[in-house]
Amino acid sequence: MDVDVASSTPVPARSLSMRFLVVGAGFAGATCARQLAEAGHDVHVVDRREHIAGNAYDHLDEHGVLVHRYGPHIFHTNSDKVFDYLSRFTAWRAYEHRVLASVDNKRVPIPINRTTINTLYGLDLDEAGVAAFLERVREPRENLRTSEDVVLNSVGRELCDKFFRGYTRKQWGRDLGELSAGVAARIPTRTNDDDRYFTDRHQGMPAEGYTRLFERLLDHPAIRVSLETDWRDLRQDDPVDGWDRLVYSGPIDEYFGGVLGKLPYRSLRFEHRHVADVDALQLPVGTVNHPNEHGYTRETEFRHLTGQDHAGTSLVREFPTDEGDPYYPIPAAENEALYKQYQAMAEAEATRGVLFVGRLAQYRYYNMDQVVAAALHACEELLAELAPPVNT
Ligand code: FAD
Ligand code: UDP
Repeated sequence: MDVDVASSTPVPARSLSMRFLVVGAGFAGATCARQLAEAGHDVHVVDRREHIAGNAYDHLDEHGVLVHRYGPHIFHTNSDKVFDYLSRFTAWRAYEHRVLASVDNKRVPIPINRTTINTLYGLDLDEAGVAAFLERVREPRENLRTSEDVVLNSVGRELCDKFFRGYTRKQWGRDLGELSAGVAARIPTRTNDDDRYFTDRHQGMPAEGYTRLFERLLDHPAIRVSLETDWRDLRQDDPVDGWDRLVYSGPIDEYFGGVLGKLPYRSLRFEHRHVADVDALQLPVGTVNHPNEHGYTRETEFRHLTGQDHAGTSLVREFPTDEGDPYYPIPAAENEALYKQYQAMAEAEATRGVLFVGRLAQYRYYNMDQVVAAALHACEELLAELAPPVNT
């Protein structure tokens, strides 16, 4: 798709109404676009994919089932600010995600809870009994540096090997001990029967899907969107050339042409399948994890998430790989160190009017709500710097 690149003009430090180029139409780019447009600026959003919504993109598959092309996305947040903001663009379907792990030929709740321990070991422990059990098996660690430290410290070696080591090896191509603590720390351990994957105050699914949410987010007279447009093809010598400011939500190392070396990202191959004319859904809950079997980490059945009524059902399996689109920054000490060097370069770019925001641009293992929070925060700071536009 063609895009007019305006001729080069001097970049004003402050201006009433500015021209912004936003690279990426995911949560980071689309939230920034909306905030900047509402503040009176002109915004041109480009995305190299043929659709908006970034990795949260959903669509009806060829059978008419609403599916997430890039794997299951469940919205959850403790931030009233983020929830209220997105609620301007969507109603919500109440949904609490539940996950079972296939371990020792049983399907048991993950996060590990009372049911998990009792089912796995044929016990009938109450909450205090589960706490005592975990106290007995855990390997206390003073310094929780890696994900292995986190898991051993909370559930000990046997449960670590059953639930975490294999899954992590598959998902990241690395051992638990090679990943930062924050990765495994996403999964709590419980002594009660709570089998929800998330416990956030707000959780659910956009009532008409994520893509519809994004259509509304980007529906503003000052926002223009060009799809199938790679910013690298528009870029001239000066990255901001033709615009006053740039918001960049792609991979940070790619922005700098990888001059300091490639930042590793983990990718996934998605295997979507459909089962026609089912009497019942195929999985007992939204997602089943497979820590120790198969090449895929988990399988998700979308109708659990969306509540869609349909004669058939669609599911997706996730096969982790190093090749393909960047989906996950890989949280490990050496990657953090390389990112810090790129971040220093990004800070220098800020003086040229470039803002880096989002999961790929900030190399953070962000959930959707954290990306929206980061984008709102970045725009608040940026707009405070700029003179108030005329047409607010
Ligand atoms: P993205 O969504 O990746 O958007 C970046 C966009 O920039 C992309 O569309 C890309 O095409 C575009 N782009 C990059 N470079 C260029 C360029 N040079 N020119 C033009 N366009 C460019 N979060 C949750 O909160 N809950 C979940 O359940 C959840 N599940 C997930 C499951 C999977 C399998 C994955 C991979 C992620 C999941 N996430 C989940 C995380 C969520 O996807 C991200 O936090 C969020 O989508 C990131 O938004 P973003 O805008 O930063 O990046
Ligand atoms: N994890 C695991 N076993 C599981 C679930 C999660 O080992 O059954 C570990 C694994 O390292 C995974 C991380 O915890 O990558 C975070 O899991 P989460 O479900 O949050 O991953 P995401 O949805 O972001 O892929």
